Amino acid sequence: MRGGGGHASLAIMSSMPHLDLTASCDCGAITLSVSGQAISMFQCACLNCQKATGGGHASVVLAPVGSVKTVGATKSFVRAADSGALFTRHFCPECGTTVMAQSSRAPAFRILPVGLFAGQNAWFQPNQLIFARSHAPWDLVDAAMPQHSAYRPEKTP
Ligand SMILES: [Zn+2]
Ligand SMILES: [Zn+2]
Repeated sequence: MRGGGGHASLAIMSSMPHLDLTASCDCGAITLSVSGQAISMFQCACLNCQKATGGGHASVVLAPVGSVKTVGATKSFVRAADSGALFTRHFCPECGTTVMAQSSRAPAFRILPVGLFAGQNAWFQPNQLIFARSHAPWDLVDAAMPQHSAYRPEKTP
């Protein structure tokens, strides 16, 4: 886990897709553009993500904060995460679509819901499921994908 971990992370990063996408919320009031290298792609089955997405897990991609731009006024909801970090979700005040999120523990990144890019998200390849402890058996995910009971041990998204 120590020493070599950094190199493994870099190897993973280099195989991440370059994102150059623009998408809008369900009603079109908010537009989000991302242009940059994806940092991580994963799925989260925590109870909050289940509520916020309406499904069994959230599918997200992490992108550098500077690579993400939004047009239109979003509304935000802040809550304390299990890690002690503050987790902020930004959504359209008209239609409620989540357009991005962020964690106070990783201010350099934005967390983008892959479903926002509906119709243009075939590049998504999750490499882990976090909060597997609250993952429901009816919600099918790739069985070969690494699962973590809560956060990934070495790094919190
Ligand atoms: Zn909207
Ligand atoms: Zn979650």
